[in-house]
Parts: sequence; structure tokens; C-alpha cells
Amino acid sequence: MKRVCLLGASGSIGRQTIDVMSSHPADFTLVGFSIGHQTRKISPIIKKYPSVEAICLQNKNDALRYSKKYPNIKFYYGDDGLLQLIDNCSCDMVVNALVGFVGLLPTLHALKKDLIICLANKEALVVGGELVNRLLDEGHGKLYSIDSEHVALSKCLSVDSDKVDKLVLTASGGAFRKLNREQLTNVTPEDALRHPNWKMGKKITIDCATMVNKAFEVIEAHYLFGYPINKIGIKLHDESMIHSYVIYKDGLLRLDEGKPDMRIPIKYALYETLTDFKTVTANSLDSFKKYHFHEFDISRYPMVKYASVVIKNKGTYGAVFNAANEEADYAFLKHEISFLTIEKIISTLMDNHKNTANPSYEDIKRVDQQTREQARNLIKKWRIK
Ligand code: NAD
Ligand code: MG
Repeated sequence: MKRVCLLGASGSIGRQTIDVMSSHPADFTLVGFSIGHQTRKISPIIKKYPSVEAICLQNKNDALRYSKKYPNIKFYYGDDGLLQLIDNCSCDMVVNALVGFVGLLPTLHALKKDLIICLANKEALVVGGELVNRLLDEGHGKLYSIDSEHVALSKCLSVDSDKVDKLVLTASGGAFRKLNREQLTNVTPEDALRHPNWKMGKKITIDCATMVNKAFEVIEAHYLFGYPINKIGIKLHDESMIHSYVIYKDGLLRLDEGKPDMRIPIKYALYETLTDFKTVTANSLDSFKKYHFHEFDISRYPMVKYASVVIKNKGTYGAVFNAANEEADYAFLKHEISFLTIEKIISTLMDNHKNTANPSYEDIKRVDQQTREQARNLIKKWRIK
């Protein structure tokens, strides 16, 4: 029986993690969770899991109020509260389903405590991949990705990994895949949130439309599997049925095929990969007549070039990419800037960044905050009138 602490229980991945755990009650129980502002979701979770010992909320007053209502449960709040939650529930596994920069510190904290971390929060690897890998290299904890492409790759790499030449991440192309760049001028957040294949949180859905998500996933693949940038490719694939694949040195492909359902990669991570799965081999993508594949065109999705900037330079470039993107995404969602201004903000801040090599967490945090401030100034300057 694994004792799970779930960060971000109210989100899309958080809810699906609870679905997977509930389908396997003999194998998983919940001992702690964080829930942001959606406090009405506390009571149904506690009802399902009387094993819960500690909860973290975003707001101090909410935490005080709920600690009176549930005196047998410890309540914490804010960013530090996420660490206290991990310290004060008897978990052996942390599922990190938080969105954004806030997910880095709890990831490092869980690893330092030698816990198992199932990581949906890809931003932690984008901004702090070097710090995360240092802890893992020193033998602290274990990390399993919860991202459909990376779970697919880890399945494919479980066979003949020494013969693999290249990793290929598939990409649906997001909500605007049928539009050319001129047609992106006046698109709205509502349009961008209509993802063709996946139902996810708002921020990642915007990131799919800008392809920042795929850039992040290339960085994530680099830190998880150690491949250099020239050995990580992208293929556009309309149906999201092939979740990614590897190309062997002799040209053969090994692929992971299945319906787009995040509960599959979540289950794979929760069981620490020890669950049934089947990959398929093919001589070429032409073997999959029912699916559509297209070449990836960087001039259509220019943000993907920053994956290679981050991987080649490391240091604080990932923190800039992420902070500029987070601020721009939320401004776009609030109709403050246009869709293409998201790209303009990221490019401006990435192209002018002075890197700090081998950053500490404090260096990364400082660059994160500086970049957010610079991004907010650009948002004011380029605000829709
Ligand atoms: P979401 O917006 O649905 O949920 C995010 C969760 O984080 C919520 O519980 C929210 O309360 C919490 N949160 C946000 N900011 C916080 C803060 N400052 N302090 C404490 N809690 C905070 O997002 P999601 O779609 O579930 O995505 C979560 C992560 O998983 C992201 O990194 C995303 O890129 C990744 N991911 C998601 C999917 C998917 O299908 N949704 C697939 C692959 C990877
Ligand atoms: Mg993904």
C-alpha cells in the first residue's frame, strides 16, 4: 500500500490521480493533499480518504477556518505550506500536479527526503532540471514523469535502449493547427482553449496552442533521458493516438499507441512503471494508415527554438522561458494581450537574458521574479487598447 501526498488535487491531473487511486484501493491511499482555492473540494476527498492527515490551502484564512472544522487534520497554507504538508504527512510518494514555477521547490524538497515523486509539473524540470538531476544523481529519491509523451518514451526505452538513435515527441498542434501565422492575429483565449484532443488545465492548453508546451517537453525529455537536442525530434500527429516513439539506429521505430487519456500515464507513474504495457514496432509511420502525421515546421511554431537555447545554455534560461510564458499566458487569458504578444514577450526576454551558470534555487527564484516584473512591464506596453 503506497501512501500518497497529492499536490494540486483540484486540478485536471489531480482529479485524474484520485480516479486512478480509487480504482486501486488496495494499492494506494491518500495521506495528504493541497487544493489551492477550491475549498469546497476538501470534504468529498476526506470522505473518500479518512486516511488524510494534512492539507495545504493557498489562503491563510481558509486554512484557519478549516482547521476548526477538521480538528484531527493538520492545515498549512501558501508556498511554504506545500513543504510542511510533505513533512507532516506520512507519505512515501508525492504526486506533483501543480501548475507553474511553484512546483519546483516541493519537487526538490521531496527528493531531498528520498521520497518517490510522480511529476506532472513539467515546469519544475524546465526551470530547475539541473537541480533535480543533481539530487537524483546523488541517489536522492526517485522520479517518474506524468506526461503522456515521456511515459510513452520511457516504455519504448525499456527495450533495446542502447540501440536507440533518436527520440520523437508527437504533437497535436493545439487549437490553431489549421491556421497559418497571419490568421493568428485576432484569435481569442476562448478559441485557444478548444484543444482538439485533450481536456486539460487552462495554462497548458494555451501552451499547446503556442507550442511552448512542446518546447517544454523537449527540455523535459532532455533532463529525463539525457539525450542531446539534436537527438530529440517533433512530429505533428493529428489524432494523439501515438504518444511518442523512438527511432533505432537501423531505422526501425518503436511506438506507444493508445487513446488520449492521462489516467494511463498517471497509472504507469503511480505503479513506478511496474504495470502492464505493450509497445509496437513499425518500419515507418506509413504502417499507420488510419492516422495523420506531418512534418514539424519551426517557422510556424517559433517558440520551440527556445528549447534548444535552454538545453544548450542551461543556467537560468529555463527560468526566463517559464516566467515570461506564465505571465504572458495569464495576461492573454484575461484578454490583456493578443495571442501573438505571448511570443513577443518570450522572445524579448529570452533574447536579452544574461545567463547565470550552475544556478542555486535562490538564483533561479531571483531570475523568476525579475523576469515576471519585466514581463508585466511589457504586458502594460503591449496591452490591447
Ligand atoms: P490545473 O490548472 O487543472 O491544476 C493546477 C493545480 O495547481 C490546481 O490544483 C491548483 O489549485 C494548483 N495551483 C496552481 N497554482 C498554485 C499555487 N501558487 N500554489 C498552490 N497550488 C497551486 O492544471 P493541470 O492541467 O492539472 O496541470 C498540472 C501540471 O501537469 C502542469 O504542469 C501541466 O503542464 C502538467 N500536465 C498536465 C496534463 C493534463 O492533461 N492536464 C498533461 C500533461 C502534463
Ligand atoms: Mg504532454
